Amino acid sequence: MNYLKTLKNCTLVFLLFNIISCSNQVTIPEDSYVIKNISIIDPIDGLQSNKHVVITNDIITMILDNDDEIIAKDDNTIDATGKYLIPGLWDAHIHFSFDTNLAPYMPGLFLAHGVTSVRDTGGPIDLVVKMKDLSLNDSIKNPNVYIAGPLIDGTPNVYNNSSPSFPLLSIENNDIIEIESNVLGIVDREVDFLKAYEMLTENQFLALMRIAKKRNLNVTGHIPLSMTLFSAIDSGLNGIEHLRNLALSVASNSDELYKERLELLKNPDDLPGSDLRSLIHSKQRMRALDSIDYNKFEEAADLLVSKNVWQTPTLFLYRNFSRKIFKDPSFIPELDKLPSQTKQKWIKEISDIDTLVVKSGLRYSKWLEEATGKLHKKNVPFMAGTDTPIGYLIPGRSLHIELEVLVESGFSNLEAIKTATVNPATFFGIQDKTGRIKNGYKADLVILNSNPLDLIRNTQDISSVIKNGHRLSRKSLDSLMYKN
Ligand SMILES: [Zn+2]
Repeated sequence: MNYLKTLKNCTLVFLLFNIISCSNQVTIPEDSYVIKNISIIDPIDGLQSNKHVVITNDIITMILDNDDEIIAKDDNTIDATGKYLIPGLWDAHIHFSFDTNLAPYMPGLFLAHGVTSVRDTGGPIDLVVKMKDLSLNDSIKNPNVYIAGPLIDGTPNVYNNSSPSFPLLSIENNDIIEIESNVLGIVDREVDFLKAYEMLTENQFLALMRIAKKRNLNVTGHIPLSMTLFSAIDSGLNGIEHLRNLALSVASNSDELYKERLELLKNPDDLPGSDLRSLIHSKQRMRALDSIDYNKFEEAADLLVSKNVWQTPTLFLYRNFSRKIFKDPSFIPELDKLPSQTKQKWIKEISDIDTLVVKSGLRYSKWLEEATGKLHKKNVPFMAGTDTPIGYLIPGRSLHIELEVLVESGFSNLEAIKTATVNPATFFGIQDKTGRIKNGYKADLVILNSNPLDLIRNTQDISSVIKNGHRLSRKSLDSLMYKN
């Protein structure tokens, strides 16, 4: 960088051979600061020990070697000896609008946990646009927010405000004309991607895909129950959330299940969307798991790789619910991080849930973890996402546990870090600007006290977070939580 004054300082060293060792003398300008003596963990290049990282405004402007001599004022120097630097983390599956009372606190909770970017995977357009604007207008106090707008569903829609578990996250579409006008309306609000939902008919799904391709937007979602994984991917679906409805498509009885599903979708009893969907899953999910055809599974994996279809399996969501981990007394102190209204609500709801573990839920959760490991081995691309705050998942905290479950499912620690950094950046085509620790990259970073390559849960051992170049100390991170 031309504004850094560098001076060569060469000394002759006579050891075994005559070696000329050169060290740079680097003066850190007033408008920059340096993080000294830190071990960098870049998600692609891996660990590089003992570096100095220079940050100017919101950009990483220089990465220097340990033997470079730094000249900087104390105010512009952070000594990070023994610490580790990772890119700011992403939670690639969140819902700001699931609990509108909690929504205003979620940005702070994310940052407090080192989550500097989030992908909102469904909510009313006005609310999610507001959260995105907030992050654009006050980028230091908010994570970067990428939005899908509402879930684009068919009829009857699942998230239709029928109960607190099913708030109005979606829009119902009766036909193709409706879907075209609704999707164009959403696209005009400058969403970053779109989300297809389970009750879409095949024709509605195809209409949605046509608009998305024209507008150059990725579409993720649940594979519509009226389709199979193969037909949805062939039609251009770019991402699958929760591996939803993968099992139904790779079972040896998948044709029979598909025919039965089309009948059920006619909805003769006029059930609401959430009831109709759970009826279909309760009739089909376990039958599919009983007869997974691993040749078909391989075929599906090959298709996902060849079409570069992103998976966000939200494994901890299923594990937490099936094992009822939130009933463990150790979870209660974690709730202190939440605003008191949410804390009291969750404590009440959790106390009303029994500790009985349902075998089918446990089995499904284990299968999702096993399928994730197998797909990962085949090089299917993955992102870490959690569905927070659904299922008593604390914003920010849940992302770290998702990384732990990914590691248990077969990811190396570095691969898990990749799913929460450069991979979601790649989904949005911004992998040359953010998600790595390199010159010219955005200074959204997390300084850790211990090495996450030794133990993945060390991503939780946060010393400070850097958002848009601005450093948040441990004390200021704590002040974003514990507001009781
Ligand atoms: Zn979700």
